[in-house]
Amino acid sequence: MNDIRDVIIIGSGPAGLTAAIYAARANMAPLVVEGEPSSTSDQPGGQLMLTTDVENFPGFPEGIMGPELMTNFRSQATRFGAEFITKKVTRVDFTQRPFQVWTGEDRYVARTVIVSTGAQSLMLGLPNEEQLLGHGLSTCATCDGFFFRDQDIAVVGGGDSAVEEATFLTRFASKVYLIHRRDQLRASKIMRDRAFANPKLEILWNCQVVEIQGEGKLSGVILEDSITHEQKPLAVQGLFIAIGHRPNTDLFRDHLTLKDNGYLVTEPDSSKTEIAGVFACGDVQDDYYRQAVTAAGSGCMAAIDAERWLEEQSD
Ligand code: NAP
Repeated sequence: MNDIRDVIIIGSGPAGLTAAIYAARANMAPLVVEGEPSSTSDQPGGQLMLTTDVENFPGFPEGIMGPELMTNFRSQATRFGAEFITKKVTRVDFTQRPFQVWTGEDRYVARTVIVSTGAQSLMLGLPNEEQLLGHGLSTCATCDGFFFRDQDIAVVGGGDSAVEEATFLTRFASKVYLIHRRDQLRASKIMRDRAFANPKLEILWNCQVVEIQGEGKLSGVILEDSITHEQKPLAVQGLFIAIGHRPNTDLFRDHLTLKDNGYLVTEPDSSKTEIAGVFACGDVQDDYYRQAVTAAGSGCMAAIDAERWLEEQSD
């Protein structure tokens, strides 16, 4: 455990595992601390483990299931010698080199660290959300909109994400309800105007989803009026939750600069953080694209940045 590694990768979604493939093939013998299966935020494989069909990852013309895709990523990294620890990182120390990473009592040291701990979609906290995710319930319109052609669906939220997703989803769905808990959208004016002008989009004001219905597949929701507390059912085949995201950056709060929204700051067009030798990639530093393929691309960047930085040090 006290051997000094070339690189430790924290997190094992598309970004971390792509970094692992590249670092392993560059003879850096990466150690990937992949997270713990029981946890939603730190689970090995990241957010794709919670999805079903992935139809937009290049190279899979028939689509692939999210968990299968991540198993493939992992096998590819293992094939080139990446080593995995199925634990959660509990503490880091980036104040001195080599950098230190702890999983409970166990300490690991490395010349470089790649942070790829991802982000999580905020959820409503209703009982069967987890079971229905990928079965009518989604957190990504770009990924799943296509599955809801000619169906009635709903989006929850009133910010730019919700309004943008609802507008995008009208390309596929026959009807899109935007469910918002207040009587005013938080979204910017241009987004609001676009939504108001869209004949396929209906905004349900002052409404909260209090129950998600369906066994094995989502069949509708129960809405509660935020003012009168009256409840009514809404039959929809799809529900998109768009109430924001939370990057998994708690561990790094005292070590790395975070943006106001909690995401890690990296140099433009690079995976470098402000600490030389510490790199970040994937959703933990991307609050804009949030796609598996962009995360994978940035994981490749991080491995190349780490390798070149190590080479500069040895020069
Ligand atoms: P956001 O701005 O934080 O909005 C979250 C929305 O969800 C709010 O309307 C909030 O309601 C609602 N909400 C939060 N928790 C809820 C709950 N438990 N139940 C029901 N509703 C809930 O998040 P975002 O829309 O993801 O945007 C994040 C940032 O990215 C913003 O700065 C946004 O401008 C930016 N963004 C920009 C674009 C673009 O420019 N194209 C696209 C997407 C996002 P309240 O309004 O009542 O608080």
